[in-house]
Amino acid sequence: GLPIVAIIGRPNVGKSTIVNRLAGGKDAIVYDEPGITRDRTYRPAYWRDREFLVVDTGGLVFDDDTEFLPLIREQAIAALKESKVAIFVVDGQAGPTSGDQEIASWLRQQQVPVFLVVNKCESPEQGTIQAAQFWELGIGEPFPVSGIHGSGVGDLLDEVVQHL
Ligand code: GDP
Ligand code: MG
Repeated sequence: GLPIVAIIGRPNVGKSTIVNRLAGGKDAIVYDEPGITRDRTYRPAYWRDREFLVVDTGGLVFDDDTEFLPLIREQAIAALKESKVAIFVVDGQAGPTSGDQEIASWLRQQQVPVFLVVNKCESPEQGTIQAAQFWELGIGEPFPVSGIHGSGVGDLLDEVVQHL
């Protein structure tokens, strides 16, 4: 099948905004999996003649087991397992958090190439400074983007499709 790109990150960092940016208005493909209430949706995306599927995941929280968080966590872990590339989204305006650190240490143990995307970087000058804070996550080069404006997303996709 088509290569899958998983969008991972804690709640509210802009994962769904970035998924919409990558997949445009194209229809979601929903695969039903028995016993799972929150099905993963895959959305077709294209970049430079490459076709792939983008899978959004719920906000990933490792240190809290209330409500649906364990279920969302299992879904994110399952999504990553079937993915060729992960996009780890963080919030450039919030800076690195302990939740980001936990996700980073989990991702470092996986075999999937990870792109660290620093969202909410609307200003190019500030974005560079905001992004630089995230080197401490140990995931590699942070890519400043604005999911809302679309800036930085093309540069990111140029790198991502090389790993598909
Ligand atoms: P998710 O929970 O990670 O899926 O995050 P959402 O995509 O739902 O976005 C969470 C909040 O961040 C919303 O209020 C968005 O409008 C806001 N947001 C998303 N992307 C950006 C961005 O590029 N810049 C700014 N300033 N806000 C953003
Ligand atoms: Mg979302």
